[in-house]
Amino acid sequence: MKNLIETAVGRKIADLVIKNCRIVNVYSGEIENEDIAITDGKIAGIGEYDGEKIIDAEGRFAAPGFIDSHIHIESSYISPEQLGKIIVPCGTTTIIADPHEIVNVCGLEGLRYMLAAAKRTKLNVIFAMPSCVPATDFEDTGAIINAEDMEELMANENIFGLGEFMNVPGVINCDEKALKKIALAKKLGKLIDGHAPNLTGKNLNAYISAGILGDHECMTVEEMQEKISRGMYILIREGSACHNLRGLLKGVTERNSRRMLLCSDDRQPKTIFDEGHINNHLKICVEEGLDAVTAIQMATLNASEAFRLFDRGAIKPGSRADIVLLKDLKDFKVEKVFIGGELVAENRKYLPEIIPQDI
Ligand SMILES: [Zn+2]
Repeated sequence: MKNLIETAVGRKIADLVIKNCRIVNVYSGEIENEDIAITDGKIAGIGEYDGEKIIDAEGRFAAPGFIDSHIHIESSYISPEQLGKIIVPCGTTTIIADPHEIVNVCGLEGLRYMLAAAKRTKLNVIFAMPSCVPATDFEDTGAIINAEDMEELMANENIFGLGEFMNVPGVINCDEKALKKIALAKKLGKLIDGHAPNLTGKNLNAYISAGILGDHECMTVEEMQEKISRGMYILIREGSACHNLRGLLKGVTERNSRRMLLCSDDRQPKTIFDEGHINNHLKICVEEGLDAVTAIQMATLNASEAFRLFDRGAIKPGSRADIVLLKDLKDFKVEKVFIGGELVAENRKYLPEIIPQDI
């Protein structure tokens, strides 16, 4: 903290200064021509600074690192380390990952592997505790996880809470096992993410009344509007199979945009290589007429607030130095990516060496 304050106030030289940036300010909506000073992996200040190391952004846009608010790593068919290698160069610096596919088969051992493997990528991976293993009582994929089994790992700092709560009838009908899981999350001060396709009216009220935060299953603007009105966050999905973004953007307004997040759910390497990741979502937003800074807010600040990741999601003093340098705010071509103040990707290439986790 002391180092950061000394740098911010100008008594100490920053570790790194990114000069000549056009900073996307997700609080004011303005673009600022300033330097970004970084010390100990965090942003110390915005203004004019000197640094031990200087990188000239040459007028590039500097945006906060993008956050994918809901993804299943397993759907990419590659490990967390390898997924980091292909999405970090697209400007994604944090993902909220629900490992419910591996946990359905391997149980909590699968989650432990994912936690260990995620430490071997620069990408920040915040995990969900899979909430519905098995997805229904009729399935016999291998594992059964009840509230009692979850307690120890749920307290892990890299686990935000329960992932998409698919057992909607369980919540609405007050199934004891389902409610116990939600009660556990609440007891530990954790969040509960949702999954509620076509849920409406009193059933939606009941589901939200249990404390469920968001939904990524909206197919229509009407469905999205009702869920927003009842206080949910909407995670707008654009993956390899599901394409909800262009349709739902028709319902994004100046008044409700701060309740919108962007996610991929399932995105395969071919889609990532061909189109990109959250940077492609942003490109689509702008193509559909949304203001570029509003789109960036959805991919950064909104996600950080919804998932209480208050140390990221904006370029501000004290935040993690997760920064993306972009050529423009139209095609969202990512040129450089910094995570924790380290240059980790340049011109679509991931720079660090990867040592894979043993399985
Ligand atoms: Zn999902």
